[in-house]
Amino acid sequence: MHKSIAKKATGYNGDNIVSFTVALPVYNEAAILKHLHSLITKACVEAGGSYEVLYINDGSNDGTSEILRKLAKEDSHVSVVGLSRNFGHPAALAAGIEIAAGESVIVMDADLQDDPAVIPELLRIRREKDAEVVYVVRTNRKEPLMMRLLFKVFHSLLQRTATYPVPRDSGSFGLLGARALGEVRKMTERLRYFPGLRAFAGFKQVELKVERGARYDQTSRVGLKGLVRLAGLAFFAETRAPMTIFYWLSGISLLTSLGLVTYALIAKLSGFAVVAWTSTVTSIAFFSSMIMLGQGFLCEYLARVYEEIRHRPIYIVDRLFRARIITETQDDAVESSIEEYVDQRIQI
Ligand code: UDP
Ligand code: MG
Repeated sequence: MHKSIAKKATGYNGDNIVSFTVALPVYNEAAILKHLHSLITKACVEAGGSYEVLYINDGSNDGTSEILRKLAKEDSHVSVVGLSRNFGHPAALAAGIEIAAGESVIVMDADLQDDPAVIPELLRIRREKDAEVVYVVRTNRKEPLMMRLLFKVFHSLLQRTATYPVPRDSGSFGLLGARALGEVRKMTERLRYFPGLRAFAGFKQVELKVERGARYDQTSRVGLKGLVRLAGLAFFAETRAPMTIFYWLSGISLLTSLGLVTYALIAKLSGFAVVAWTSTVTSIAFFSSMIMLGQGFLCEYLARVYEEIRHRPIYIVDRLFRARIITETQDDAVESSIEEYVDQRIQI
């Protein structure tokens, strides 16, 4: 049975039997999963067509695994990928993108901040506007004021400096059509900012404005530290601003030093050279801090180069349960082990 799963399990061989996959990274969301799943099922049935709901269990330790296993047994549309530990949202998302069997993939969070009721709308826009990508733009965020402010600064900085247009206020929520999905799958970089990868793919991209809901339990699993890390990742991956800023700074330094040299010469000639103490101290302090900042930025890029050339896997799969709608088996032994998963990858 497992071999037949291996043959049909991926959406890469052109004979898709699933028209779309809803992929959700999940980390300790036991409290909401059943309710969330019923909302997703309702939306998928309303949308019509064959579908897969793919949960990526990112090393949860709160009973999420048991609930997902139960959902997979009860519902023939459910696939579950269990990662070998907690790899973080971007890595879990990468797993979802790679493993999804659907022709298109809808990516969303599992905390009700992304409303499942939007799923039919995403598919409708794809159909009617012939869009390859439909991305959700978040309006009316429910996060605290401070967070909203930080998001605003981040998005406006990214939008102004990115080397190609990354839509403002868009997160991972959205739909990738077959061609965009194929292109994103080719982007195998380790440090991944998903909205950036999606924008890079190009094709016809259409936005859909949706209100950003509140998290059902108010406790972000990514957290402030994680968000700052993600912002850094996005910024260093998608813009060259940290490098180009030093061309500007070196220009300013050159002009300032010319002024200082002139001032020092005049002071020397007029015999009050000791007065230059303040300007010397301030310029040393200013320029050495700029040099430090520049070195900091350099190290950021170096660390990223190191991370990429190590070429470690982005995520590691522990277990894979394929939806029965894909494996076409009636029994509920839908679990395949890592060996079959590796088989599937080889077939890609
Ligand atoms: N998540 C994950 N791994 C993590 C942290 C979060 O898979 O290490 C999932 C989480 O379960 C949710 C989504 O990623 O479905 C977004 O997480 P969260 O709501 O905490 O992020 P925020 O909305 O605060 O950015
Ligand atoms: Mg959230």
